[in-house]
Amino acid sequence: MFSRARTALQSLEDQMTLRQQVAVATAILCVVMVVALASMAAGISRSQVRERVLLELSGLAETVLDRLEGNATSRLRETVLLADLLSTPAIAGDPTRAAAIVEMVGRQMRHAVWVGFTDADGRVRAATGGSLVGQSLVGRSWYDGDLDAGRMGQMHQDPLFGAAEAADPENPWFINLEAPVITDGQRTGTVVALLSWTWAEESRRAVMAALDPSNLTDLMILSRTGEVVLGPRRGEWPLLGNSGELLAVASAQRSDTLARLGLTVVASRQATVAFREAGGLVMVIVSVGLLLAAVGVAIGAVIAQRVSRPLLEITGEADRLGRDPNVAMQRTRGSADVIRLSQSLRDMVRRIVFAERRSVEAEERASFEAQRFNRDIEDLRRLADTDPLSGLPNRRSFMQYAADMLKHYKHDGRSFALVMIDIDRFKGVNDTYGHHAGDAVISAVAGMLAKEIRPTDKVARFGGEEFLVLLRETTERDALSTAERLRARVEALPIPTEGHVLRVTISLGVSVSLPSDADVHEIIGRADKALYQAKNTGRNKVVGNFEDETAEMIARAAAALPVPLRPAEDEGKRAAAALRRAS
Ligand code: GH3
Ligand code: MG
Ligand code: MG
Repeated sequence: MFSRARTALQSLEDQMTLRQQVAVATAILCVVMVVALASMAAGISRSQVRERVLLELSGLAETVLDRLEGNATSRLRETVLLADLLSTPAIAGDPTRAAAIVEMVGRQMRHAVWVGFTDADGRVRAATGGSLVGQSLVGRSWYDGDLDAGRMGQMHQDPLFGAAEAADPENPWFINLEAPVITDGQRTGTVVALLSWTWAEESRRAVMAALDPSNLTDLMILSRTGEVVLGPRRGEWPLLGNSGELLAVASAQRSDTLARLGLTVVASRQATVAFREAGGLVMVIVSVGLLLAAVGVAIGAVIAQRVSRPLLEITGEADRLGRDPNVAMQRTRGSADVIRLSQSLRDMVRRIVFAERRSVEAEERASFEAQRFNRDIEDLRRLADTDPLSGLPNRRSFMQYAADMLKHYKHDGRSFALVMIDIDRFKGVNDTYGHHAGDAVISAVAGMLAKEIRPTDKVARFGGEEFLVLLRETTERDALSTAERLRARVEALPIPTEGHVLRVTISLGVSVSLPSDADVHEIIGRADKALYQAKNTGRNKVVGNFEDETAEMIARAAAALPVPLRPAEDEGKRAAAALRRAS
């Protein structure tokens, strides 16, 4: 898996130029850096925004709580003031006046739905609107009646006070305040004030009014049990903060006045809204980052260009070198590496050029040697085929030539003649005039024979003072006359030696190729026989040996007769024998 990815990457690299690779690598690097930077910035910015928003929300909750406390403290002070007023002897002794004061103060007290004055046993002596007068409050969950100082009571929903008194008919919460009435050191009764829920609503609304509605911020008040008793999600219990919102709380526990109510103020804001500015920051970072990435890619491209330019130059030089060997490679500059590469290439080219030159030289030398060798072989062959004394072909080369001629004759039927020649009484020349004179005679006879024959004929020194002449396309008669001419020429040839002019004669035996000849030796044999006869019958003469052909001719003639003629056959043989004798 890993190696396959590496192979794919390598083949991709091979298809790209250095410049493209650097550009792509820079682009990838920049994008990775931008993404990393943006996500880091987003994280930091989110946590900072979160902290700040939570701080703001908790400040809002505290503000609501402060307002609730301030409002409650004012109402409590009024309640205590009313109790103090009712405890003065002039009013305490006058129930009608006391009732009038309760009625007057009660009506003036903000948020109060009912203000009453009980005796020491909890029975209502006077109240706003005269309601509940004569009834006892003992047993009411919210009524204390034995306080030694004014204080705030509890939140409750006493059915004694119904929807008619409540500011919000669906949610008739009440809060009661109590203050003892003490006359001459004796607790003679209690002033009780019931505040409606508008007390809380007013505080919340005042803070809400100052908020930017686009921030989607909400303020809620929770009861001791955690139920939402004020705010848009009233009745919800328990309050579940979802992941999409940020929450901050302020507890009434810290306030002496409100501690007994057990209220909690909650401020909430939608997270999407809260993190809007963090997102904006990320966008700024991403756009600036992309701009920097573009600059980075451009710089990368410039660097790649600078790196690849000398390489391209070197490549161009190398290409030119390949086409034209006379071009010298230039020194390329650009960086220490490029100079080294260029230097290595120059050295390499120099070595290649040197090696090429040497190989050409070696080739030339080899071809010269081969020519000389061929010439030597040619000379040797000539030497091997030539007789050194006469300059004529020797026996070996003549035999080869004669064998070729016999082959041709077998093929085309054009006969050739052989003339065997021997110098007469040559021994005597040697003995009388010396070996040198003998050599001169051999040379002179050889020269004469070579001059007298046609260019197509051939003469060879066959050994000692013997010569053999081959006459091409020649019949018996022509062969005999040519032999005769040779004999006469030699006879007439004066041969100058040291101090003398010698004359020699030759004897010649002539034969002609026959269809029955298996090899050259048979023809030579016949010529040799004729020569032998010439020597035996007086020398300096020509003798032909054509016996077999004559016999054949006679046999052919006899076979052509209508009646077989046996004696005639014998006659033919006899005639042949006679011919032999005669010649
Ligand atoms: P004929 O042939 O007439 O019977 O008599 P001949 O004297 O020529 O007889 P033979 O063939 O016996 O003699 C040949 C002599 O030729 C013998 C040898 O000493 C001599 N001879 C052979 N080769 C050479 C050579 O190259 N140079 C010289 N000077 N003499 C040679
Ligand atoms: Mg001889
Ligand atoms: Mg001889």
